[in-house]
Amino acid sequence: MNNGKIIISGAGLAGSLLASCLANRGFQVEVFERRPDMRKWKAEGGRSINLALSNRGIKALRKVHMDGPVLKEAIPMHGRMMHNTQGVLTYQPYGTEGQFINSVSRSGLNMKLISLAEEKQEVNLHFSHRIADVNFESTTVWVETPEGQMVEHKADAIIAADGAFSPIRLAMQKTNRFNYSQQYENYGYKELEIPPLEGDHPFQMEPNALHIWPRGEFMMIALPNPDGSFTCTLFLPYEGPISFDSLQTEDDVHQFFHTYFADTLPLISRLEQTFFSNPTGSLVTVRCAPWVRGKVALLGDAAHAIVPFYGQGMNCAFEDVAVLDNLIESNMSAGWEDVLDRYQKERIPNANAIADLALQNFIEMRDLVGHKDFLDFKEIEHTLCEKYPHFFKSQYELVTFSDVTYKTALESGEKNASLIRFLQENDNRQYLQQPDQMHSLFSRFHISV
Ligand code: FAD
Repeated sequence: MNNGKIIISGAGLAGSLLASCLANRGFQVEVFERRPDMRKWKAEGGRSINLALSNRGIKALRKVHMDGPVLKEAIPMHGRMMHNTQGVLTYQPYGTEGQFINSVSRSGLNMKLISLAEEKQEVNLHFSHRIADVNFESTTVWVETPEGQMVEHKADAIIAADGAFSPIRLAMQKTNRFNYSQQYENYGYKELEIPPLEGDHPFQMEPNALHIWPRGEFMMIALPNPDGSFTCTLFLPYEGPISFDSLQTEDDVHQFFHTYFADTLPLISRLEQTFFSNPTGSLVTVRCAPWVRGKVALLGDAAHAIVPFYGQGMNCAFEDVAVLDNLIESNMSAGWEDVLDRYQKERIPNANAIADLALQNFIEMRDLVGHKDFLDFKEIEHTLCEKYPHFFKSQYELVTFSDVTYKTALESGEKNASLIRFLQENDNRQYLQQPDQMHSLFSRFHISV
């Protein structure tokens, strides 16, 4: 079967998954990746080493039977472990029994997906080949080869899965009536490492949790790795009294950690040195519309870069792949224009919703999780999830453990918050134990799952 030729720009997480999906549908797939083959070269440092994989991503991986192999090497994280400045720990489960997110290695996952695509005879992977330009009318790209030559390639459709600084999106920006916004946070991030111990118990902290040190205007998080290490990510303003700017010497860094993250001082390896040798990453939200010009479409971070605080960037990119694949299955007879138009109509509102949710979650993680009122809110929310699972699901549950659209999850979260705030008032909490009252409250607050 040959359904035509597709060009994919980028063999990152989404591009390499998409290549296998398209090959399975009988397309000839040419993938151009700017970087050398990561299986032969050490990946660039400074980008997140591990990622939280959850339901949407797992569901998309299932399409190419990669969910099992990936989850086999993942570490389940059942909840958040909060560390206060005294090192006292508070634990909050993410969902109900059996619901957890998974810490996976970014490079391990990407390499698995590249190898899977490479096994397919329909896929040709071209590493160290940079997409330099695109013509939307003729569905053509110009690719720079490792020798520096510019070669023209034409296809039936082109999918840009080339990340937050997509060159194809840049070309779209120069076309008529293309809407685009890019917002940088005044925060950067820095990765640090807690190494494993030798012996049978290598983890220096609880392995089955995502660790958070919320400090109001800044925070640190840590995710476990299979080798027993943790990757810590410090999120800090660029400027201001407590900021990357204010930490100029090794002494400054030591003092800062001593004050705010004292329990990690004995754990993080070569803190002062790695703080200055590791790069500081920036955080950007990109929104744009349309995502399609002719038969050229944006997908993944190229279409919607979001801040990492809901752990959904990759999950959303994988969901884009799954939605596009489903539309190819059901609508390809109507042609690429129809498939791509349906794809963007379905995905743009949801990408905007998860971008908003990710920004909101930053405030929750760095600040609210340390407040009594918020912990009380979470306790009521947890009781509602446990006692009324057929009527109530938390926003986190809808985003992370379900496949309702991100837009629905955003709207449900707002309704949930109104109900919970009502239950926090006076002695309304008593209704939690009265199913009849609760059922009428669910309908009063328009809550349904
Ligand atoms: P990318 O993975 O960026 O891949 C794009 C590819 O395109 C790259 O390989 C690049 O080399 C290639 N490319 C670029 N330009 C060209 C060109 N001109 N020609 C050819 N190829 C090109 N997401 C989660 O779901 N969970 C998390 O826990 C999570 N944590 C994160 C933590 C941090 C600190 C950050 C920064 C992000 C995090 N994310 C997380 C988001 C996630 O990393 C991205 O959403 C995901 O990588 C998007 O995949 P992608 O394939 O669209 O883009």
